Amino acid sequence: MTAKIIDGKSLAAATRAALKQKVDALVQRGVRPGLTVIIAGDDPASKVYVRNKALAAKEIGVRSEVLEYKSDVSESEILDRVARLNANREVHGILVQLPLPRHIDAARVLETIAPAKDVDGFHEANLGALMAGRPGVVPCTPLGCMRLIEHAGVQIAGRHAVVLGRSNIVGKPVAMLLLQKDATVTICHSKTPRLEAITRQADILVAAVGRAKLVTAEMVKPGACVIDVGVNRLPDGKLAGDVDYAAVREIAGSITPVPGGVGPMTIAMLLENCLSAAAREKPAS
Ligand code: NAP
Repeated sequence: MTAKIIDGKSLAAATRAALKQKVDALVQRGVRPGLTVIIAGDDPASKVYVRNKALAAKEIGVRSEVLEYKSDVSESEILDRVARLNANREVHGILVQLPLPRHIDAARVLETIAPAKDVDGFHEANLGALMAGRPGVVPCTPLGCMRLIEHAGVQIAGRHAVVLGRSNIVGKPVAMLLLQKDATVTICHSKTPRLEAITRQADILVAAVGRAKLVTAEMVKPGACVIDVGVNRLPDGKLAGDVDYAAVREIAGSITPVPGGVGPMTIAMLLENCLSAAAREKPAS
């Protein structure tokens, strides 16, 4: 059996096309959605991510702005800038690219973003809303994972979903979203013994670990839906996910590739969150 490939690139393109129509409708209403991305330091991967996000925003008509700071920028300068962006009516989404330089308290910066403009969904108010099942901004990568599972036509309710990884930005929120859709959810992490005994029970397996090819074919239940969030750089410079794609696609029912799976959907969900924030804008009084 060879798995159905869940094509994140084409789903993201279709999503962006639909979002462009929403932008046009918002502009008709007098609202041009605006996204501001803050980046500090010289991390090359972060620079590529930021460029891609800004480009994708521009392509659908979102006003996008990238504020670049040197790695020795002070925390107070970033906090001050975020505060000003919070008050700027033309900015609907604020994204602070992580990691920040080590001398800056990233949690403090994220908590300074107004929750309604927190298009990454990392603010405690938004993470808490997700936990409580209340409306809020949902983190982009987990939301993208859910769209990919749904797009593959995989039933979630009543199935066993196993999430590898418990970070606040991927593992925990995707587990919450799967739970909201009535999956029975198990979260695994670096201290989980006999990982394979758990992953082999998964009807839906989400890998968000950051270890190249950690998930082997022996760890996957035949027919499972496998969502690979991992982005790992191999010694030869190529990208690999957390899943041994070539072997697992012979076992799984459906699988996302890396690249071309979760990554493009993360950006599409960022744009969706930004548009939702713009749509909430109240007319100036
Ligand atoms: P993270 O904060 O480093 O968390 C990794 C998680 O994996 C931790 O919970 C860790 O457990 C767990 N883990 C590490 N080694 C393990 C092992 N051998 N077995 C089981 N669990 C293990 O990473 P993250 O930010 O969630 O990101 C995960 C991956 O997704 C990375 O490769 C990242 O680049 C990628 N990513 C991709 C996108 C995208 O758009 N495609 C977006 C975000 C992240 P402990 O908690 O016990 O340490």
